[in-house]
Amino acid sequence: MPQPPPIREAERLLSEDWGVDSLPIKPIDIATRCSIECQAMPSPKGGVSGMLVKAGDSFGILYATHIPVAGFQNFSIAHELGHYFLPDHPDYVFRGGDIHESSAGFSSEDKFEKQADQFACGLLMPSYLFDPELDKAGTGMDAVLKMADICGTSRTATAIRYAQRHSEPTAIIISTNGVIDYCFMSDELKYLKDITWPKKGVAVPRGSRTKAMTPQQVLNGDRLENDTDMASWFQLDRSISIYEEVIGLGNYGKTLTVLSLESLPTEDEEDEEEELQESWTPRFRR
Ligand SMILES: [Zn+2]
Repeated sequence: MPQPPPIREAERLLSEDWGVDSLPIKPIDIATRCSIECQAMPSPKGGVSGMLVKAGDSFGILYATHIPVAGFQNFSIAHELGHYFLPDHPDYVFRGGDIHESSAGFSSEDKFEKQADQFACGLLMPSYLFDPELDKAGTGMDAVLKMADICGTSRTATAIRYAQRHSEPTAIIISTNGVIDYCFMSDELKYLKDITWPKKGVAVPRGSRTKAMTPQQVLNGDRLENDTDMASWFQLDRSISIYEEVIGLGNYGKTLTVLSLESLPTEDEEDEEEELQESWTPRFRR
């Protein structure tokens, strides 16, 4: 499956320009190598994950540390590097002045913020290093947590990359108090006929493990899992069994849900199902 250009650009820089050949990737080292000074920013304004700052010909990155998690800080720095390296980004982010404030982490609708998030994913989890480790990591939540450890990335960012790179059709859902913040689906799922995406602001299904999680379990970082039906999450008009795993993300008050299918029904199976349904539908001959 072709990857978006910002991911490809990050991977090209790593492999061709910098010769990086092992994980974890330390974006702060990359910045230093490019003479971009990085500084912690202890108490940023609400929602600001980092800033790219220009002073004459030199550049600096300020990164938020109010979330004291290495994965979050790595992603924030990698996102700012995206604004520095991606074509058209410097012109755009400095159009109004010498400071650009970012909200990294898949929450922005802005095209440039999204591209910088994609760049960060590619920079921290380049496919040429990520895929061989993923082959050994297994499937589902266990694999996501293992890959987050290996890459020094947040569980959320890792889960999204997992869904992009794993062969098993997967959906990733981030929610707060039983309401969906966003959903990310692997390409195999996007091509499924008649599927409806779970949308932002919509409640997670009643009866799901995600719904069952209490605020205390979210804070504790507990895990729940269960067999369930794809139709309850995606408004399908037929039944496909999937596996739901959810983990509390602690202080964020958010949950990360991984929905896995072993495989999608093939066209033949779908046809058979239709035939089966037809054979059970009464027919009246004239
Ligand atoms: Zn940004």
